[in-house]
Amino acid sequence: SSQSALNFGAGPAKLPREVLTEVQKEIISYQNSGMSLMEMSHRSKEYSQINQSAQNNVRDLLNVPDNYKIMFIQGGGLGAFAAVAMNFMNRTGTADYAVTGTWSAKAAQEAEKYGTVNLVFPKAKKPGKIPDQSTWTLNPEASYFYYCDNETVDGVEFPYIPETHGVPIVADMSSNIMTRKFDVSKFGCIFGGAQKNIGPAGVVVVIVREDLLGNAMKICPTVFNFTQVHKENSVLNTPATFSVYVMEKVLKWIKESGGVENMEKQSQRKSDCLYGAITDSNTFYSCPIDENCRSRINIPFRVGGPQGNEELEELFLEEAEKRFMYQLKGHRSVGGIRASLYNAISYEDVALLVKFMKEFQAQHQ
Ligand code: PMP
Repeated sequence: SSQSALNFGAGPAKLPREVLTEVQKEIISYQNSGMSLMEMSHRSKEYSQINQSAQNNVRDLLNVPDNYKIMFIQGGGLGAFAAVAMNFMNRTGTADYAVTGTWSAKAAQEAEKYGTVNLVFPKAKKPGKIPDQSTWTLNPEASYFYYCDNETVDGVEFPYIPETHGVPIVADMSSNIMTRKFDVSKFGCIFGGAQKNIGPAGVVVVIVREDLLGNAMKICPTVFNFTQVHKENSVLNTPATFSVYVMEKVLKWIKESGGVENMEKQSQRKSDCLYGAITDSNTFYSCPIDENCRSRINIPFRVGGPQGNEELEELFLEEAEKRFMYQLKGHRSVGGIRASLYNAISYEDVALLVKFMKEFQAQHQ
């Protein structure tokens, strides 16, 4: 039954069961209004409350200082790549990018349409390392410095916030937002698509330091102009109301589950458990990522030796599905297996995966 599906997908991904049950209860009549939230105006009092509560929850959960504005846009992570450049590139016409995998590479490519992009270290042929900061070539004149805090496809996560000597930092936290505490005041802008840790697809959370607003390029579409979106309190035009509604509930669920502090603790436990199984497998399972930048959230690994045995990997996926474990296939550009351990995945879910991995190894090595 759907009840027992173990969803290790990279996104859209598992949502807390409690949230889905609540949505189900309200789907036809939201708070006894006789209407679904989906059928209500984005200017209704009901949606205004949801919009405000979602923003407040982001602020509380991440301890966002008052001089940072929180807003919601559409267009996904890819839209945000362009929006970032169009909102911030204007200052000097150039920006620094740290490319550590698929998504930061795409962000850099998108930004090139709007200005000069300087890669602070050469793009690696195979991701899996973050070059030491002392080797980076930072441009002190950069409008901003950009990096992806967690590379969803490649499994590379920053173990630190880069030091940029005053240049505003822009971070893509699509796949690890709300999974660990961090100091928002170190950033100029943080964004994240909701569809992994905080809700359904369709909405992107953007947090911007106030003094960086007001500088968008003339060509910037109004819906991507952070200054205008903020001015209209994220109802500049029709937002993805249903996505924001569900996200508001997920954020509340995080609060009630011990906040980001507990998400971080659980995330460490879950990823330690899975990496432990990989390390203990005597190279039957292997993860190609440097130990100091292994993602706690998206864990890519090969089966049947460090190069991977594709036949065995096919079989692994088939056998996993027989145990109701789904969406474990690695990204098409990387191959192998990838387990995504977002907030809604419990330690017990990971323990079941690890138990299966041990049995599979015993049968096939
Ligand atoms: N950044 C990261 C880190 C992602 O994982 C993704 C999507 N997997 C994106 C950006 C792109 O998001 P979208 O598909 O919403 O454009």
